[in-house]
Amino acid sequence: QAADDLILETAGLVKEFRGFVAVDGVNLKIRRGDIHALIGPNGAGKTTCFNLLTKFLQPTRGRILFKGQDITGESPQCIARKGMVRSFQISAVFPHMTVLENVRVALQRKLGTSFHFWKSDRSLDCLNERAMALLAEVGLESYARMVTVEMPYGRKRALEIATTLALDPELMLLDEPTQGMGLEDVERVMALIKKVSANRSILMVEHNMKVVSGICDRITVLARGAVLAEGDYAEVSSNPVVIEAYMGS
Ligand code: ADP
Repeated sequence: QAADDLILETAGLVKEFRGFVAVDGVNLKIRRGDIHALIGPNGAGKTTCFNLLTKFLQPTRGRILFKGQDITGESPQCIARKGMVRSFQISAVFPHMTVLENVRVALQRKLGTSFHFWKSDRSLDCLNERAMALLAEVGLESYARMVTVEMPYGRKRALEIATTLALDPELMLLDEPTQGMGLEDVERVMALIKKVSANRSILMVEHNMKVVSGICDRITVLARGAVLAEGDYAEVSSNPVVIEAYMGS
């Protein structure tokens, strides 16, 4: 595997909480362009891994390489600027703003925070156009003027994805993107993830095996903080060690 095929790599990632080893020497390899799933029974260390990647937690040991560059010591903001963005990091949406306004805020964040007292109407039009284009991309045009808090639950992930796309990430991290959704919404989110993966890589924690088998190119199975197996869905789902880990959980 050539190193430049990998967008993200971890080497010997370890996280201990007062002596308890939650992540135990994890080597992840995420290929450019893939939809990659991180799965495993409860308590396997998936969330802790995500938190290490996006710097909510500092690893006890190990290294994280993004596009071949060591980002282990860097701030979440810096990592986001380099192109790795976790969806909820920026999609703490303002519930009483409209859907369109929330996407506009995310776009402004990307475009910079330099403050000018006078803004032309033209620049606002421009921002609105780009925000509408993003909403169209995720299938939310008809919700543009709705106050965000009033959106149906099943469509909120699409807004999260739109606000994440506003930052134009090369690698998007998604936490259980279909959690708590009905079948129709699950299918819509699957199609959306597939669509946005056309020009970026995606790493997601996902419990729904329909989603994992349906859209993921590669899967890493974690159990008790360590990588148990890695491969495509057929390989992983037929692996007796994986079946055992799920049965035993
Ligand atoms: P998963 O997301 O796969 O369910 P987690 O990463 O949330 O697993 O948790 C892995 C293990 O680490 C669990 O046993 C959990 O109790 C433990 N853990 C997670 N966060 C902390 C923490 N802040 N302090 C102590 N233990 C933790």
